[in-house]
Amino acid sequence: MAKRIDIKSLPLEELYAEMEEKGEKSFRAKQMYEWMHVKLARGFDEMTNLSKALRESCGEWYTYTALQAVQVLESETDGTKKFLFELSDGNLVESVWMKYKHGNSVCISSQVGCKMGCGFCASTLGGFERNLRPSEMLDQVYAITRLTGERVSNVVVMGIGEPLDNYENLLTFIRMLTDANGLNISQRNVTVSTCGIVPNIRKLAEEELQITLALSLHATTDTLRQSLMPVAKRYSIPELIEVCRDYFDRTGRRITLEYGMMDGINDSDRDLERLVRIAKQLSAHVNLIPINPVKEREFAPSGADRVKAFKNGLEKNKINVTIRREMGRDINGACGQLRRGATGV
Ligand code: SAH
Repeated sequence: MAKRIDIKSLPLEELYAEMEEKGEKSFRAKQMYEWMHVKLARGFDEMTNLSKALRESCGEWYTYTALQAVQVLESETDGTKKFLFELSDGNLVESVWMKYKHGNSVCISSQVGCKMGCGFCASTLGGFERNLRPSEMLDQVYAITRLTGERVSNVVVMGIGEPLDNYENLLTFIRMLTDANGLNISQRNVTVSTCGIVPNIRKLAEEELQITLALSLHATTDTLRQSLMPVAKRYSIPELIEVCRDYFDRTGRRITLEYGMMDGINDSDRDLERLVRIAKQLSAHVNLIPINPVKEREFAPSGADRVKAFKNGLEKNKINVTIRREMGRDINGACGQLRRGATGV
């Protein structure tokens, strides 16, 4: 039997073509798209304006992803919730829901596990299993919308995995998430974080999306960066600067530089000077992240005085800087703490 199509990964144009091929009227595609991507139906049986016969045929033709929340943890300090979801093949991923004054943000995973091997991150510890399909990325947003009963206004692709290592699926996901026929989230409210895969940043620039691109810089010299992030052996900081400048020129969207501050590792005054230079070259926004603890790793976060010194130093040079709040740290839901399995806390 031919492999069944994952219907929730089809953009509306492809769903039109699919329905046509099956001999169905084209408005059926529109109805189904709305059930999947606006009403967030969990199966064909919820699609009550389709005939029973069509619903049954769809069940034979297609697979329909729906995540199961197997664990939900809520932070006692800031109300952040972390969801452990089971995929249809039994794999697990985590997603995080954060409530801010300006709206709700969801941090999603893009892969089951990660192959990038960054020395300070928990997501890479269990290795890489597979890419997530567009439907499985969308489903994290949909499931959380259903479970919280609240609209999601911002999506950050900063959970488990390297999004630019799952490029085609990521692009389909972004297009569908921001499609006016779906949840219609503004592209400006979508952020993709990458460890710096240069050729794919170049490709992304050509898509001319209005999303925010965040680059995990974390070090200002290639030597240090290579010791923290294996990907730095493939792409140097000068190459990253060049491709990020090009991204900014083409899209008009400022890059965010993420800088995880590690005590005694990358928080000296020399590091600050170099960070200022890089941020200036890119007209970038800098996001300072006191590194979050991961129990298998020995990195400690920089002290408050160093974080403050970096903030002041950057501001003195007219660089836009924020300190990332450690939302959900008590439930291991903060940056770099997500895993492909239940962690407990
Ligand atoms: N693979 C992508 C996205 C996932 S990580 C990337 O590398 O950008 C999201 C962010 O959390 C990245 O900036 C990552 O470097 C950072 N991060 C990883 N481990 C961390 C930790 N222990 N504390 C704080 N941030 C961490």
